Amino acid sequence: MEHSASAPAVGRKATAVPGMGWAKLKKNLRTQRVVKQCCGVDFWEIDSFADEMGQVPSNQHEGEEHVKNIRNSMMSNSGVRPGGHPVSSGAPKEITEALTSLLNLRRKYSEARSSGSSIVNDAIPATECDLTIPDEAAMADLRNVWDLAKNPNIAAFCRVRLSILESKFDVWSLEARDTEMVQQQALKNDFLTIPKVDTHLHNSAMMTAKQLSSFMHSTYEKDKDRVLREKEGKAVTVGEELLANGFSPNKKSTDELSGNHKMFANFENFNKGFTPLGSRALKSLFLGTGALEGEYLFKLTKTCSELARDEADAFLEPRYSVYGNNKTGWAALAKWFRRWEVDKTIPTTLLAVQLPRVYPVWRKLGMVNCFGDMLKNFWNPLFEAAAEPEDSDSDMRYIISKLRVLDSVDDESKEDVHDIAGLPAPMDWTSEKNPPWTYYHYYMHLNLCKLNVILGRQTNPIQMRPHAGEAGPTHHLAAAFLLCDGISHGINLDKEPVLQYLYYLSQIPIAVSPISNSVLFLKYRDNPFPSMFKRGLCVALTTDDPLMFHSTPTPLLEEYATARHSFDLSSIDLCEIARYSCLAAFNKEELQQMYGDADDHDPDKTNIPPMRINYRVKQLEEELNGLK
Ligand SMILES: [Zn+2]
Repeated sequence: MEHSASAPAVGRKATAVPGMGWAKLKKNLRTQRVVKQCCGVDFWEIDSFADEMGQVPSNQHEGEEHVKNIRNSMMSNSGVRPGGHPVSSGAPKEITEALTSLLNLRRKYSEARSSGSSIVNDAIPATECDLTIPDEAAMADLRNVWDLAKNPNIAAFCRVRLSILESKFDVWSLEARDTEMVQQQALKNDFLTIPKVDTHLHNSAMMTAKQLSSFMHSTYEKDKDRVLREKEGKAVTVGEELLANGFSPNKKSTDELSGNHKMFANFENFNKGFTPLGSRALKSLFLGTGALEGEYLFKLTKTCSELARDEADAFLEPRYSVYGNNKTGWAALAKWFRRWEVDKTIPTTLLAVQLPRVYPVWRKLGMVNCFGDMLKNFWNPLFEAAAEPEDSDSDMRYIISKLRVLDSVDDESKEDVHDIAGLPAPMDWTSEKNPPWTYYHYYMHLNLCKLNVILGRQTNPIQMRPHAGEAGPTHHLAAAFLLCDGISHGINLDKEPVLQYLYYLSQIPIAVSPISNSVLFLKYRDNPFPSMFKRGLCVALTTDDPLMFHSTPTPLLEEYATARHSFDLSSIDLCEIARYSCLAAFNKEELQQMYGDADDHDPDKTNIPPMRINYRVKQLEEELNGLK
């Protein structure tokens, strides 16, 4: 890399701080090396990076304390007892071969989603989705990932690697902090002026309660006499609809619009919060694409996106729901998207669509007869549009060209099975039971492979980035490792060292929402985000549902600011996290336009000193080389 030549200047020229000489630091690092050898890990030198650097902590006591903490942390986190004996001693060759095989498997599945013509079933017409029963090879692959993830020897090994990565970053931060800061201050941007993306939020909750309340009041003022619809031959106005559904022009409180204590740790109560004032009519009016051609939804989206752009140089990736309960979901969204020219009017809004995993609801209502019907309702309109001539001017053809991400969402805390072999095919799934997470995503993967191939989007594939690893069974993360391009949440990786290490090695984008997690499943102070970041996982900060959780006009900045102070992140850390969000959201060509050279992003554009990027690249290379 171009920056490699200049970056190590950090090194020995830097001024040593009185009281903490290089020799003393080396001695402490040697202590770590002893600890490392006791872990049974005899390759990858922990001190290799330190050898390249001459800068030491700015405070002797801080430095000594920190190294001591690191040593303790390595012992407690890595499964090494205080006496230094390893809890388990695996056979590194077997372990590294197993990990390598999983990385190769992931690569195979990932490539299939962009150019996987080999898995497209030619027996099925191009305009129809693939609902064939899962093939044995895929079932074996899925089983293999989960089996190896649960292997205790591999888990012990990965836990050590993750702890070492985290400890290395702690040392790096101490040694390089001042030089990094000097380098960053010489760059042309700051955190607020670099691009960043909220890669996980939902369109129905993308505004804060204050923003929604203000919008409802101003709508009432301006449009109260505007005809909304006809009812029994009589016109119903916007004002009448508002007043009939709990809105009061004199009430300024936002309490009934935002999150409250009843939704804490309760997904069902939380879901109800998406209905303004508990009224489905108001949800349809303000958050639907049908009423008044979805004008209010468009205006709300525009307000949020423009604020994010103007205040934080942020892109938003709100998820719009297509439920699969009928054949018209995509058409309604496409009509709305085209009507308001969302991509042109607010180009910082990136189109993502989510499939809520609520099959039992539609089955009970008799809207579908089987799970296959739901998949057909979701996928067939996409395949029909993809089969249209390239010069087609249909709304569907248009929206499909703008579609970037598919997501799926539901309460993950419900138990389900990982092994989906032997389950009925989707057209035979007629019970009211919800299919397992893996079953849903097997068919999302299978059909996304087909769609990307038909659309010729090898270099710009539609991605699958579902909700995974927020709560409940951790095997979702094993399935996602093969079947998805990235995930939202991912905090359960904290419980799965093998998967966490694999997510790190594969640099799989993870959109973490610590504030959202805190309300629903995991207190803020316990969130593994800071640890995942230090280890080098590709983690971004995202808001999920500003309507429920945030209170300032730019929720994404609120998310970053909260994390900065709670997790003690530096401005360089924030810029690195922002860059991770862009790596998740944009394709290679877009990143090149944004950051410059394809492989060597311009530090003036990322606001990240080259030495930080070099550090991350080097760590990753060392880990990957260690597997060879
Ligand atoms: Zn979400």
